[in-house]
Amino acid sequence: MVVGRKNGRGMTATIIDGKSIAAELRGKVAADVARLKRDHGLTPGLAVVLVGQNPASEVYVRSKAKALVEAGMAPFDHKLPESTGEAELLALIDRLNADKAVSGILVQLPLPPQIDAQKVIAAIDPMKDVDGFHPVNVGRLSLGLPSLVPCTPYGCVMLAKTVKPSLAGLDALVIGRSNIVGKPVAQLLLAENATVTVAHSKTRDLAALARRADLLIAAIGKAEFVRGDWIKPGAIVIDVGINRIDGEGGKSRIVGDVAFGEAARVAGAITPVPGGVGPMTIACLMLNTLRAACALNGVKAASL
Ligand code: NDP
Repeated sequence: MVVGRKNGRGMTATIIDGKSIAAELRGKVAADVARLKRDHGLTPGLAVVLVGQNPASEVYVRSKAKALVEAGMAPFDHKLPESTGEAELLALIDRLNADKAVSGILVQLPLPPQIDAQKVIAAIDPMKDVDGFHPVNVGRLSLGLPSLVPCTPYGCVMLAKTVKPSLAGLDALVIGRSNIVGKPVAQLLLAENATVTVAHSKTRDLAALARRADLLIAAIGKAEFVRGDWIKPGAIVIDVGINRIDGEGGKSRIVGDVAFGEAARVAGAITPVPGGVGPMTIACLMLNTLRAACALNGVKAASL
């Protein structure tokens, strides 16, 4: 497994190379997809549903479709107008639930205000819920039962384990408690036997908590919020944040929730933004689609 590279610019941390690690995982998924086709005549398929014209969502949907095709899976794109009603979307979900060619269903969030996202997520067959947001999968994760796990949190834990294969006993701090990142990543870390603290906007003295953390996962949505002097020397830092800020020459650039340059001088290992968690999210979506196809067809999935 690729772990990362040392950075030459006075930084001590290993840079966790999410791009290479994700490419390696996508390669393994593609090999198992080829096996499914050869031995079982089965092609995993993912339906991606996009409502409206959010430019960021359109970029995500395009990169998901590209990764699917590269992995040998079938993409089913459903682009619906901004004015789509809830009943119409629920009817589409019903059709996709019944469609044997569709192994996974992903509804790109956010949805327009006339549609209740929770209602739509709850309508997806939990076995096809490759985002892992359905209440059944959320419940199974918290019970420690096998489930489809949300992709970004799953990717975060995989990245941390490339540095330290066992997270048992580590003091882990998760900053952020959203349903899509903070809470599921905390559940996954508990399952790895880490001692988990979840911080949020009402947490007192966050810096002091961070300084105790052997593993810090930042999912806040605030540019460079976590400073270098918050990091415990040698800690593993996983930065989920994607924030666009003004850069040199009027060009914008993407930064994470951690002040990367400062943190990389103290941490033992750190993910860059971009090129860290982001690529793993898509690779884990491919893995979830493969696993869903195997479970729906009663075929054993390769242990990847
Ligand atoms: P949310 O806005 O849903 O949640 C942010 C969390 O951060 C909340 O729990 C909030 O606390 C907490 N928070 C906000 N301000 C502070 C503060 N001052 N101190 C401590 N905690 C604070 O965001 P998401 O979880 O959806 O996303 C987080 C980041 O990750 C974003 O930048 C997003 O773009 C990125 N992201 C990246 C993905 C990827 O593939 N790389 C995928 C998904 C998200 P409270 O609950 O109290 O409000």
